[in-house]
Amino acid sequence: MARRRKVYEGKAKILFEGPEPGTLVQYFKDDATAFNNEKKGVITGKGVLNNRISEYIMLRLNEVGIPTHFVRRLNMREQLIREVEIIPVELIVRNIAAGSMTKRLGIPEGTALPRSIVEFCYKSDELGDPLVTEEHITAFGWATPPEIDDMMALGLRINDVLFGLFAGVGIRLVDFKIEFGRLYNEEEVRTVLADEISPDSCRLWDSGSNEKLDKDRFRQDMSGVAEAYQEVARRLGILPEGGPRDMKGPAVMQ
Ligand code: UDP
Repeated sequence: MARRRKVYEGKAKILFEGPEPGTLVQYFKDDATAFNNEKKGVITGKGVLNNRISEYIMLRLNEVGIPTHFVRRLNMREQLIREVEIIPVELIVRNIAAGSMTKRLGIPEGTALPRSIVEFCYKSDELGDPLVTEEHITAFGWATPPEIDDMMALGLRINDVLFGLFAGVGIRLVDFKIEFGRLYNEEEVRTVLADEISPDSCRLWDSGSNEKLDKDRFRQDMSGVAEAYQEVARRLGILPEGGPRDMKGPAVMQ
């Protein structure tokens, strides 16, 4: 295979130069991190599953008119995406209290929220992605007021679509994190969904038992991390051809 130029390497993904200008190849690794990089490990087969799951979700969102960076999946671990300028703000949408919200506000895990709640965090590994308000975002120029409106509106629409999609396969969408990018097209700039949506970035609980089917299993040293990701893919009907045997694993090493 021809050597490609690496554009960026993050914790769970690598971006390579794409085949045409304005495109990139997004490669999904098996590496997992938590607690701002304090915990590191490998979830064998995770990259293959997240590539599939994120593809599936981006396609469903595209079908209902939500703009994304996704073009097409290329192979087991790679997808072609449009190059965007990442907005340095993460959007978290919550339906049920969990994670940092339970700690910050003392709400017991599992409490249904009175309505979906949107939060913004500033993307900074050094600072641990702190929660910020619209005031910070506009004052420091991380995003413009129209971009904040786009992110809020798209985030809530994405939540509606995904909440229904997961409910249909017996999964509760507790919360999720998304990132947006600026897609430059001639004179126009559009806010589009970027990055990935997968069990790395969502909290997903089985509707009946509340069993965790996401990265919290890794964060909390629970067994069956890779199996949980596989279960999400299986329920969505998208296990790789040949089933899990197409992947190495499952196994969790730390
Ligand atoms: N999340 C993420 N990346 C981060 C922080 C959070 O994907 O750097 C996801 C996380 O998996 C969960 C949601 O965002 O689905 C809300 O996370 P929370 O703020 O509760 O933080 P956590 O407790 O995961 O640190």
